[in-house]
Amino acid sequence: MMRDDNCIFCKIANGEIPSKTLYEDDSFRVILDLGPATRGHALILPKDHYANLYELPDEVAAEAMKLAKKMAIRMKERLGADGFNLVQNNGETAGQTVMHFHLHLIPRYENDGQHILWNPGESTPEELEEIKDQITK
Ligand code: AMP
Ligand code: ZN
Repeated sequence: MMRDDNCIFCKIANGEIPSKTLYEDDSFRVILDLGPATRGHALILPKDHYANLYELPDEVAAEAMKLAKKMAIRMKERLGADGFNLVQNNGETAGQTVMHFHLHLIPRYENDGQHILWNPGESTPEELEEIKDQITK
């Protein structure tokens, strides 16, 4: 088992700290976020400790996405959500505050007052070509 003794999400995922649990199996716990963006905002936590997406084993990544799909369908139906955002932050710059991989499940409602989108920028074909080369070559 891969646990980090100083990690709050390790403790929550493994039941050492109580949480409002929506789902649990051998590998994951899904909990309600204590500071919800919207009604029903939840987090998928692997029980093993991986700091971020880069460290996540492929099988855990695959299972997490399958679970996200299952939860999104159920939550949308039960909560009467109009839309749904999956959000996953890696690194402080990207807004990650708890360094244990987690996937945000955020039900969206008309007029919920949240802005989980970005301001679109601008690009040129040359710029996009350069970026493409940087990533792929
Ligand atoms: P992130 O900014 O992606 O690292 O998200 C961390 C999330 O964890 C935030 O949405 C917090 O509200 C939430 N959070 C932090 N501590 C707890 C906790 N003890 N129980 C439930 N959610 C928490
Ligand atoms: Zn952890």
